[in-house]
Amino acid sequence: MIEELVRQVTVGDDDAVEELSLVADTEPGRLTPHLGALLDHDVLWPGKLYRAADADVVRRVVARVDGGRTPGQLNHLLVALAHTAHPLAGDALRRWSAQPPPGADTLHVDILDYAREGGWTVDPQGHRRDLCGDTAYEWIMREAPRRPDAATCPWCASPLWTAADLDPAEPAVGVALAHTGWSGRLVIATCHFCACYTTLYSRVTPDGGTDWWTGNTRPDHLGPAGTEDPPALLPVLGEVRQSPYQASAWERGGSTLGGRPDWIQDAGHPDCPGCRQPMDYVGLVGGADLDEYGEGAYYLHLHRSCGFAAVNYQQS
Ligand SMILES: [Zn+2]
Ligand SMILES: [Zn+2]
Repeated sequence: MIEELVRQVTVGDDDAVEELSLVADTEPGRLTPHLGALLDHDVLWPGKLYRAADADVVRRVVARVDGGRTPGQLNHLLVALAHTAHPLAGDALRRWSAQPPPGADTLHVDILDYAREGGWTVDPQGHRRDLCGDTAYEWIMREAPRRPDAATCPWCASPLWTAADLDPAEPAVGVALAHTGWSGRLVIATCHFCACYTTLYSRVTPDGGTDWWTGNTRPDHLGPAGTEDPPALLPVLGEVRQSPYQASAWERGGSTLGGRPDWIQDAGHPDCPGCRQPMDYVGLVGGADLDEYGEGAYYLHLHRSCGFAAVNYQQS
C-alpha cells in the first residue's frame, strides 16, 4: 500500500501526498524504508514525511544541502531535516550556523531555528533540547462556567479564559509534561481575544497560580476592543493518542495535551521572556472544538525554570 502511494506521489498525485502525510502522523516508521525513493524524486514537502528517516537518508539530505546544487530546495531540505530530529541533523545545523551552506543568504530565518520546525532546539551550550513530549492525549472540552472572580484582560477587559488546568494527581498529566520538568498544578489563563494578535505570557506557579505578565506588549494593530466573554469550556483529559503527532489545528476533536503541535503556519515556539530560549510546548486547543464556526488554534507553552507560560494563536 505504501509502495503504491509513493509511486503516485512521485508522479505528482496530491491526494497520495495527503495519505502519506496521514501515515506520517499515525505511524511514521512505516515510511522509513521509502524515504530514499521520495528523496530520489525530490518529494521533500511536507517535511513531516521525513520524521522517521534513518541515518542513511539523513546523510543524503545533509549531503544535498552541502552540495548546493539545488538552491531552490534548500528551505524544504532544512525543514525535512528538522523533522527527522536525528542527531546527525543536529550536528549539521550546528555546523551550518558557523559555516553557512551554499544559498543560506536567501533564507529568512537563522539556520539553527529550523530545528523548531521539528520541535527541538540547540541551546547556547550547543546541546540539543526537545521542546515537545512523546506522548499525547485527547483534550476534550467540558462546560466550565466562568468564575465571577475571574481576572480580566488589562487590554480589552474581557474575563480571562482558563485554557488549561492540569492536575498532577492525574498520571497522564505527568507523562504529557515530563519534558517540561513541571510538577504541581498548572493553570494557564489567557485572553482568548488578545492572544489572537500576539503571544501572551503569564507567570505561573506550581500551586496553580496564574497571573498576566505585566511585560506583555500590546500590539499597535490591536484597536480599542469591546469586552467579549471567553469560551465557557475547559479541556479535560481523554484517551492517549496512538502517536504524538495527531493533534489537529483544523479538525474537531483535534485538541491535544502533549505530543507535537500541528502548526497552521511556520513553527511558532515562542521565546521565554525570562531567558530568551524557546519555551516547552504543552498542548493545542483547536478553534473547531471551542465553537461551531471556530477556526485556528491556540498553542500553549511553558518554561518551568523561569515560571512563564505562554499562549499564541495561528490561523490560515
Ligand atoms: Zn484581551
Ligand atoms: Zn525561561
